Amino acid sequence: MTYIPVDRDGRVHPSEVEEAVQENTRLISIMHANNEIGSIQPIAEVGAIAASHGVHMHTDAVQSVGKIPVNVDDLNVHMLSISSHKLYGPKGVGCLYVRKGTKLTPLLFGGGHERGLRSGTENVSGIVGFGEAMRLAVEDFAENTRIRRLRDKLIDAVLGEIPHTRLNGGKEHRLPNNINFSFSYIEGESLVLRLNAKGVAGSTGSACSSKKLEASHVLLAIGLDPVDAHGSLRFTLGRDNTEADVEYVSEVLPVIVDELRQMSPLYACRDDGYGKPE
Ligand SMILES: *Cc1c(COP(=O)(O)O)cnc(C)c1O
Repeated sequence: MTYIPVDRDGRVHPSEVEEAVQENTRLISIMHANNEIGSIQPIAEVGAIAASHGVHMHTDAVQSVGKIPVNVDDLNVHMLSISSHKLYGPKGVGCLYVRKGTKLTPLLFGGGHERGLRSGTENVSGIVGFGEAMRLAVEDFAENTRIRRLRDKLIDAVLGEIPHTRLNGGKEHRLPNNINFSFSYIEGESLVLRLNAKGVAGSTGSACSSKKLEASHVLLAIGLDPVDAHGSLRFTLGRDNTEADVEYVSEVLPVIVDELRQMSPLYACRDDGYGKPE
């Protein structure tokens, strides 16, 4: 297994993938969009490289389907995975697109369901719900334009208002619903708790790993030092969010960050001279 690094914006460079391909390379798998910082990967370019070497290409499109255009032919992929609950569908159901002619070996054996690929009785109600969620995602696709505007408004407000703050992940190749900041000198966990008390849901690190208080491997991979990685906060916007929500967060967040910084020894000892007591 070869791991490919990412740049400051969390993107893989196709040329690095090309260099890493070896005689015995069987599969290239790169997520389409990152769940923590929203970076959208150049899957079409990497897919073309994979094809030119006769290597199979898989992408995890769990974050991107419903948010940005996804077309398996444009992306040059043999396999693409989707999870229902990330697009407002029921939990417990997902889908793997497999291009015709791609031979897979099952991991689960038994009843031979789903053409022998995944034994176990199908979750029919879940699958129907997933289909309906997908239909609505396509029907309401323009929602993403509205959500992107809210995202940019919140990003601009926060970066403009709160010093020592960075946006993790680039602005250009980014999911319309993802915001991830690092606030120097404070901890993401305390931010999340205080925001929660104000009725705002955010998260630090990735939701799945937030119980272990290790710095997010994604934030470390884009070159953040562990201290700044611990001061990270992610907001994920959705179709229920409004302009008023963004304004509310723009008001409460600077106050919370400032209060936490006033208590932070790291902030008191910072060496940039900014705001130092006389
Ligand atoms: C949530 C998520 C998964 C996991 O999907 P589940 O159906 O929740 O197990 C995988 N990849 C990405 C990018 C995700 O965001």
